[in-house]
Amino acid sequence: MKAKVVLLGPPGCGKGTQAEKMGDDLGYVKLSTGDMLREAVRNQTELGMKAKGYMDSGALVPNDLIIGLMKEKIAGLDKILLDGFPRTVEQADALAEQVEVDLAINIDVDDAELINRLTQRRSCPECNAVYHLTNKPPAKEGVCDKCGSQLYQRDDDTEATVKNRLEVYRQNTFPLIEYYEKKGKLVTIPGVGDIEEIYAKIKAALE
Ligand code: AMP
Repeated sequence: MKAKVVLLGPPGCGKGTQAEKMGDDLGYVKLSTGDMLREAVRNQTELGMKAKGYMDSGALVPNDLIIGLMKEKIAGLDKILLDGFPRTVEQADALAEQVEVDLAINIDVDDAELINRLTQRRSCPECNAVYHLTNKPPAKEGVCDKCGSQLYQRDDDTEATVKNRLEVYRQNTFPLIEYYEKKGKLVTIPGVGDIEEIYAKIKAALE
């Protein structure tokens, strides 16, 4: 099974949902830069205070902050799943210096669907589980199925910020598809349809 895995794809493509399943089911250590940054913002750490403004507008947090953070987290781990990192070519180069990526999984979803998913997304601040108001509602309205915490809407999941995030993705992160394709490490999986079916395709690609 592939040990060092990167999840690519635009915001809302289902990276977080699939990463959660892979972590629970296959024992990957999931490292999500978005989750780490949101926790840093909540705890008002130095990193969080530096990152907040960028995140609220949908911009990327500067490479040096992210690269330093991830270098530390990745060190010594064998089976890792990177969700939301790398997001720029500079980050991908820094990652390549530290470990060899075995597989980059690109989850493909069109923009109209992404906007729908993100604006209807609700998240758990404690365990980071994600829901969708109509496609994947929690059993009890507003409450996380997994840990019972109160769900919330992320500040950057509003329509205007979502559009900016998609533009930022196109400019900065989309080139990573070609980056990993050239290295012979890319697999693209359609991200629309049943979550379990998408997961089955991801699992097959990992073997
Ligand atoms: P996400 O939860 O992956 O959608 O990330 C939320 C926000 O955190 C992004 O819009 C960025 O502001 C920031 N962020 C997350 N990962 C990165 C990264 N690898 N590089 C720069 N900024 C990031």
